[in-house]
Amino acid sequence: MQQYFSDTKLAPGAVYEMTPQQAHHAGNVVHLQGKIIRLVHNGEAYFARCEGNGRKMTALVLEKDPVKRELDAELVLLQALVRREKFEWILQKATELGVSRIIPFESSRCVVQYRKEKAERQKERWMQIVTEAAEQSKREKIPVIDDVLRFEDVCRFEAEEKYLAYENAFGESPLLGSVYTGESAAFVIGPEGGFSEEEVQALVSGGYRTVTLGARILRAETAALAALAVMADTAERKQR
Ligand code: SAM
Repeated sequence: MQQYFSDTKLAPGAVYEMTPQQAHHAGNVVHLQGKIIRLVHNGEAYFARCEGNGRKMTALVLEKDPVKRELDAELVLLQALVRREKFEWILQKATELGVSRIIPFESSRCVVQYRKEKAERQKERWMQIVTEAAEQSKREKIPVIDDVLRFEDVCRFEAEEKYLAYENAFGESPLLGSVYTGESAAFVIGPEGGFSEEEVQALVSGGYRTVTLGARILRAETAALAALAVMADTAERKQR
């Protein structure tokens, strides 16, 4: 069942007018005339029946969808900038896994440089990726993507639980899954080149607990997903 996000309030009996992009997709790409779709506004989902011709498409709002797919816990991924296609893949997969907020940041060993002049277009593309992933995974919320943070601000980031996924912590740090409580948390994943010793120390001084994701050295994108999968599973189990 196709899902779209609505920026207007929904109620049974209301008629939702699709945006031009949604109308084109619903009418010309997936041919949803007469079909039932899922509309979401402000965290609430409704079933609705599509009508229209591809240029102008509406949906008659029916009953509420009782199924809730959002995690209760707010999971915040602080992700060092990595190569474009990898970062975009992290955005999509992290959205499917239930991330609430993604905060990109720069650190000393990032292989890509953050270009301020490209920020606006980049953010639009990033929002498109997480919106489509949230629609595909039937989430009631679209993850928030912050502006790119400086490393110093990552160290100061406030959260109930703060974890630093550190590949050299295998010997002396716990597995993330054995310490994460299932509540809201922030976790940091480094760039392709990892963190310098000084950066690790600065993050620990900023209140991050080092955790391991296992004995193997994961690519940044694999580590981001592994950490999220562990945390989403724990959080989901806690809310059942
Ligand atoms: N230092 C790594 C190396 O030797 O190739 C490069 C960093 S790794 C590609 C990118 C990020 O993934 C790390 O900064 C860390 O946050 C995370 N990571 C990778 N493997 C991990 C593991 N086994 N446990 C915890 N975090 C890991």
